[in-house]
Amino acid sequence: MIFFEIDMTTVLIFLFFGNLATAGLLAIYSSDSVAHRTYLQFLAGKLLQGTSWMLLALRGKIPDVFSAHVGNSLLLVGFALEALAIISVEKPRKKWETFYAIIVTVSIIVFWGFARQSNQYVYISSAFAALMFLSVTIFFLRDSKKSVLRYSLSVIYAVSCFILLVRGTNAFLHADYKLMSNEFSQDLTFLSTYFLMIISGSSFLLLQRERTDELLRGVNQELDQLAHIDGLTSLANRRKFSEHLTYGILESRRRAEPLALIMADIDFFKKYNDHYGHVYGDRCLVQVAQELKQHCRRGTDLIVRYGGEEFAIVLINTDITQACQIAESIRNGVLGLSIPHAASDVSDCVTLSLGVFSAIPVSNEHDYDWYIIEADRRLYEAKHAGRDQCVCR
Ligand code: GH3
Ligand code: MG
Ligand code: MG
Repeated sequence: MIFFEIDMTTVLIFLFFGNLATAGLLAIYSSDSVAHRTYLQFLAGKLLQGTSWMLLALRGKIPDVFSAHVGNSLLLVGFALEALAIISVEKPRKKWETFYAIIVTVSIIVFWGFARQSNQYVYISSAFAALMFLSVTIFFLRDSKKSVLRYSLSVIYAVSCFILLVRGTNAFLHADYKLMSNEFSQDLTFLSTYFLMIISGSSFLLLQRERTDELLRGVNQELDQLAHIDGLTSLANRRKFSEHLTYGILESRRRAEPLALIMADIDFFKKYNDHYGHVYGDRCLVQVAQELKQHCRRGTDLIVRYGGEEFAIVLINTDITQACQIAESIRNGVLGLSIPHAASDVSDCVTLSLGVFSAIPVSNEHDYDWYIIEADRRLYEAKHAGRDQCVCR
């Protein structure tokens, strides 16, 4: 049953111009986001397809060896290169390159060796083209990366493959089947090929776009991390601290939960530096930072390098008793590191003084500054009371 009739030569000439236009536009578009090799594969695929559509359009006007044999061979190479480029946007696919090389070689041998009549031209080329389209479908379905774009492409290639198979079967069953004969599956094939020509060009660019977007997301995440992390100790930095404490206060007020802030400062650290030098001073800071991490393991805890040798710890939903226990375990932990400090006036090892504050924020006065002032005040009480201790009230 024929719903519509199309002029085959017109479609073939449109395919010729369409492919050349795509190739031309791609040639003047330069992109760093896709490997040069992949880009050349796509370009060559389009140029070969354009040339072969013109050779096919000249069927009957030039010898069959050019129109059918050369034309179909170039077309299959063109399809293979395009399929390869589309699946290689992410990275080179060596195994698939080998696969396409084998398919193309076999298809050309079969075509030149066996195709004598016009229906044979049709079913041999249809079968191999269908295999290539099917390979794209299989690739996207098997690929670990999933997206609506990839699913849509696999469906489009699967439909085109199916239409080609119907056309190939019709040609196989009818000895008088020709390239130019108006038959429903043939009309549909050329329309779907035309449709696929438009889709593949834009998909190639969209897949690149998808990849660039993903790379950018990764880089942004990395930058965001770097912007929030202290370079020496890998603890959170002041910027992260401000964000976290501000958010923590708001949440604690909403939930009527206590929020604790511990300020910790290494005792006589200037003397440590003067005695051992800055390199050892830095190593000591890293060791103390590591120790702090051992005592604050809840996902909501935040340990910050607040200043030079000063650390802050934000503990969500933690009352003063719990916060004091944590502070005391941190103090003991640092003492337990037994980092020699010959210049200290309180111990022969590195020690910490800690100011601990916890409260349920209930009004606007209970803000960021309030927490810092209160915790800081207790830290300085600890310093004045002789260092190496926690002050909790
Ligand atoms: P206190 O017990 O009162 O806290 O005395 P302190 O010497 O620890 O305090 P002070 O604030 O006078 O000195 C802090 C010292 O920390 C000054 C500086 O030499 C050292 N410092 C700050 N940042 C760094 C750093 O990134 N690396 C090293 N090695 N030392 C640092
Ligand atoms: Mg200090
Ligand atoms: Mg200090």
